Amino acid sequence: MKPDPGCIFCQIARGEVPSTVIERHPHMVAIRDVNPQAPDHVLVFPTDHIASLDECDDTDMLGQLLYLARQVARTVHIDHGGYRVVINHGDHGGQTVPHLHLHVLGGRRMKWPPG
Ligand code: AMP
Repeated sequence: MKPDPGCIFCQIARGEVPSTVIERHPHMVAIRDVNPQAPDHVLVFPTDHIASLDECDDTDMLGQLLYLARQVARTVHIDHGGYRVVINHGDHGGQTVPHLHLHVLGGRRMKWPPG
């Protein structure tokens, strides 16, 4: 999919907007969330613009994103305590940035069900 010039995550992926990068790969990036909902809150997303989970048919990419989420959890040392990986999709899912991303949350005990 073509880059979206107005997309904040595309701008971050291109280095036009500053972010705290945890990991950078040729087709993916992991950054700290600017409004963390847990002591550790990292976003993992593809550098190419994909609007949402529903628009991604690239099963290799989906697997790589999940694999990077696991790697990020190890990098920020929340793998032993436990963590949560979340994808919000669409209005009811609570998605606010229309660029596919995984949330990796840890550093505190999570609650269930989510709000
Ligand atoms: P969602 O609501 O699932 O679409 O998640 C979007 C996330 O992106 C939110 O947790 C925001 O805090 C985060 N976010 C928005 N803008 C930025 C930014 N410039 N840098 C880092 N995180 C951001």
